[in-house]
Amino acid sequence: MIMHTLKSFLATVVFLALAFSGSSQDKDSLTISTIFGNALSDNTAFHNLEYLCKKIGGRLCGSPQSMQAVKWSETVLKNMGADTVYKQELKVRHWERGEKEIATVRSKTKGSHDLHVCAIGGSIGTGEKGITANVVEVKDFEELAKLGIKEIEGKIVFFDHPADPTYYYTFNAYGGVAKFRVFGAVQAARFGALAVIVRSATLSHDDYPHTGVMHYADTVKQIPAVAVSTNDADNLDQWLKSDPGLSLYLRTTCKELPEVTSYNVIGEIRGTEKPDEIIAFGGHLDSWDIGEGAHDDGIGVVQTMEVLRLFKALGIKPKHTIRVVVFMDEEMAQRGAARYAESAKPPEAGKTKHIAAIETDRGGFTPTGFSIDASPEQVKKIREWKSLLIPYGLYSLEKGGSGVDIRDLKPLGIPLIALVTDSQRYFDYQHAANDTFDKVNEREMQLGSASIAALVWLIDKYGL
Ligand SMILES: [Zn+2]
Repeated sequence: MIMHTLKSFLATVVFLALAFSGSSQDKDSLTISTIFGNALSDNTAFHNLEYLCKKIGGRLCGSPQSMQAVKWSETVLKNMGADTVYKQELKVRHWERGEKEIATVRSKTKGSHDLHVCAIGGSIGTGEKGITANVVEVKDFEELAKLGIKEIEGKIVFFDHPADPTYYYTFNAYGGVAKFRVFGAVQAARFGALAVIVRSATLSHDDYPHTGVMHYADTVKQIPAVAVSTNDADNLDQWLKSDPGLSLYLRTTCKELPEVTSYNVIGEIRGTEKPDEIIAFGGHLDSWDIGEGAHDDGIGVVQTMEVLRLFKALGIKPKHTIRVVVFMDEEMAQRGAARYAESAKPPEAGKTKHIAAIETDRGGFTPTGFSIDASPEQVKKIREWKSLLIPYGLYSLEKGGSGVDIRDLKPLGIPLIALVTDSQRYFDYQHAANDTFDKVNEREMQLGSASIAALVWLIDKYGL
């Protein structure tokens, strides 16, 4: 007990000594430790995520849930004490999944099996009766082209390209296979395919199919596209080896409805010295419909809202205006990103200019640093803060890509930054039904919130 009292007395002495006589580096590290301390001991952000995931749930752009989420965002930002909360209007696509998708393998030797599938976002449906056809398995677009119209016409093409597990950073593995989901239908339709079934873009072996966006081309016939779980992709591969004549029945009822009005939501604390200079940070509010959009990207939304709460709670008055941007429609067509970029340039921007934009959309896992898309001088400046950030695991401050919601700001010369997290588990959940609140660790998520708040605070103090 005495020891404890002595310890806390000494801690107070050290705190006061640093606060009143320490170097600016010491004072900075003290402020940053206060930011992390508050974030790790407050559960507002976690409760916000719980509400977004459990009370609102999956919220694809154009859906009633996405509109509920817009209203919720406005309320949360107002309650946090933002000086200004407003919306930016935009039009979004409105695609609906329809009834539960059916995919049944029928084989004379292997029997009948239902596969775990989901329609890929933006796909047309098969029609009420569904489609029955033989299946041609291909590894990639090269193999598809080699087989050509003779082998492909009238069949369902099965793209079975596993994500490469040898990459350390899993986004690279995803980057290597997402193209089959996005462009598989167009490529297969060129050779007369009736539909495509695509192995899910994930490294995990389970029964969850992963959706995501796909694109059609104006000049190519539209055909339905579904994603299949990795376990069932392995099964289908085996069944085809022993019975190449098996057939697949597919039924999906998804459809595209007329576009609807939606919004980005913005909340600000006005700068005390340079209110026209903005530090923006955000995540995207929309999510795929089959999960709760927890890691992708409810996390990003609540983490960036949390930055405002932290500034308020700690009585930090920023010199520049700090702005949370809750982006709409990252998943389908990035209209929110385009709308925001429009507002950041003349004439809409008026006298305001951005000094930095930060995005968080890589899941609520332990942060490892920031990826910086900026000039060498700006990268160098951020790297000078390394000793302040390393105690919180932020060891990687490298030049690299930022994120889908802020990349449209690049032509304006704005430094772009992304929060980087440990990527090992992200694609276990991304775009799947298991991207749910219970998969989120509160501490890991809050380390991310505090990381962004600390970076915003440093940029506000020293500029970029
Ligand atoms: Zn996302």
